[in-house]
Amino acid sequence: MKQENIRPGDLAWKCCKCGLKLEPALVTVEYLGNEFTAELPRCPGCGQVMISEEVALGKMAEVEQILEDK
Ligand SMILES: [Zn+2]
Repeated sequence: MKQENIRPGDLAWKCCKCGLKLEPALVTVEYLGNEFTAELPRCPGCGQVMISEEVALGKMAEVEQILEDK
């Protein structure tokens, strides 16, 4: 399991609704009709996923690369 999507700073965040600390969780994200699973910081209370723009862009670039390779 790759951990590169989560930086230590991400897990220092708290959910703005619950005030709970975020925990790493496997989250399925859909992009361009393709689903991929990424480990992202998630609130254990309400399930809110924190995805930074940096991670989102990196992940989408990765997916586009996969699509191009087909
Ligand atoms: Zn929450």
